[in-house]
Amino acid sequence: MSATAPITQDVHTIPRKLPEGPMNLVGLTREKMRDLLIAHGTAEKQAKMRVGQIWQWIYQWGVRDFAEMTNLAKGYRAELAEKFVIDVPEVVTRQVSEDGTRKYLVRIAGGHEVEVVYIPEDGRGTLCVSSQVGCTLTCSFCHTGTQKLVRNLTAAEIIGQVMVARDDLGEWPEIGAPKDETRLLSNIVLMGMGEPLYNFENVRDAMKIAMDPEGIQLSRRRITLSTSGVVPEIARTAQEIGCQLAVSFHATTDEVRDQLVPINKRWNIEALLEVLRSYPKVSNSERITFEYVMLHGVNDSDDDARRLVKLIEGIPAKINLIPFNEWPGAPYKRSSNNRIRAFADIIYKAGYASPIRTPRGEDIMAACGQLKSATERARKSRKQIEADAGLS
Ligand code: SAH
Ligand code: SF4
Repeated sequence: MSATAPITQDVHTIPRKLPEGPMNLVGLTREKMRDLLIAHGTAEKQAKMRVGQIWQWIYQWGVRDFAEMTNLAKGYRAELAEKFVIDVPEVVTRQVSEDGTRKYLVRIAGGHEVEVVYIPEDGRGTLCVSSQVGCTLTCSFCHTGTQKLVRNLTAAEIIGQVMVARDDLGEWPEIGAPKDETRLLSNIVLMGMGEPLYNFENVRDAMKIAMDPEGIQLSRRRITLSTSGVVPEIARTAQEIGCQLAVSFHATTDEVRDQLVPINKRWNIEALLEVLRSYPKVSNSERITFEYVMLHGVNDSDDDARRLVKLIEGIPAKINLIPFNEWPGAPYKRSSNNRIRAFADIIYKAGYASPIRTPRGEDIMAACGQLKSATERARKSRKQIEADAGLS
């Protein structure tokens, strides 16, 4: 328990109802925006230029009102305002942890809610973005996995999480200001709710906007997509997104991984490692992050550490050890600090970086694997969770 109670604020109390009809320009690829403008009367010859202008207003300067797009003719601005909207998710609550971590609960169409977490570090910071409401997968140590999938987020809802976080951080630059390399929101990790590779197109389109030099302008090296191991989509990620890849590895035998990450029954460790071997080359990225949650007595022995090193031999890798974050009803315990350090040591001596992830925002349930929407409380019973984990 924390000494100080976390601050919870209602940010948006006035419900915003979207008028029926107008289409949202947020989240569209440049091509889709161009087609849409043409379909609504923009001359074909001018469409590409108009896309560039509108795009910069929305993503570079954070403008939400067409009237402010001063390099467009007044009449054209009015036309845009009639036909389109610039809509981002609504922030319902914002909680600030003792350690500065911020957790936003955002509401999306249909009344669903997802969580977004901002983790500050030395003047920079990482935004942990959700890709689905809930998750179809049922990893037995993950809180989100106890919530049934409600739906995939749209590209607008995914990039919209970055936009509302920038709003809250007060980070949109002055219009016309030169590119600023120091960013409070300097990194994005797709490690929130959901399996991003089961929502590939929307995640890809949103990340393209995040990486666009006239968009949010984050380098692809500052974007990390975490997957539980959807093997056929990993090669596509390398080709079509080219961001950094993290893999929820978590076990060194198929027997244990089947229980922890059930997608392993479909694509086992061998199949996963095979596709990972080609990822760095195809995506031109340096190394893959292997995420490994430390579960007391389940996957944390010295033998596990040695097997892990052997398995990943030849893959440029970093192993991120994640102390298990507990949640109500969780069927596991966190490994002791000594155990985690001993495990890390074996990996480090084998020549791999083995950082231990410090849990952030635990007092507001913002740490890895603790996310779950408040509106989707239909949690499985403890018995069901244990059965899924193969413990009963
Ligand atoms: N679905 C994707 C991304 C979201 S989970 C994936 O599984 O990779 C982000 C990371 O948090 C994953 O490595 C996941 O295994 C880990 N995680 C989930 N629940 C956790 C928990 N209770 N404690 C620590 N890490 C957890
Ligand atoms: Fe889904 Fe990832 Fe949680 Fe597994 S760890 S249930 S894939 S969100």
